[in-house]
Amino acid sequence: MSIRINPKKCIGCRKCVEECPGNLFVIGEDNKAHMRDPRDCWGCATCVKICPLNAISMYLGADIGGDGTSMIVKHSGNVLHWIFESPDGMKLFVETDRTESNKY
Ligand code: SF4
Ligand code: SF4
Repeated sequence: MSIRINPKKCIGCRKCVEECPGNLFVIGEDNKAHMRDPRDCWGCATCVKICPLNAISMYLGADIGGDGTSMIVKHSGNVLHWIFESPDGMKLFVETDRTESNKY
């Protein structure tokens, strides 16, 4: 599992820098987000959810039973739209209610 930043989408807004609980993001001289050390990421997905441009995706590799699928999250109000795209282009969509996320 790892985080990927799409430099074409990133606008350097710093939300990932401010919200990552591991303080793993920095803004480079190119005004784009970069990770300090991806090995320190524990996969909480906060950055994936917080990025307003969907510039951050999570790669679900074999280490967690994934097959190279990538995951992004889009927002509409309190609904989070989780979009999973497998290497062959197949997409899976899952919606969750943000207000229910810490219920259990
Ligand atoms: S939150 Fe997204 S757009 Fe903002 S700096 Fe981070 S990667 Fe770039
Ligand atoms: S998944 Fe969590 S720990 Fe990893 S980079 Fe994103 S916010 Fe930081």
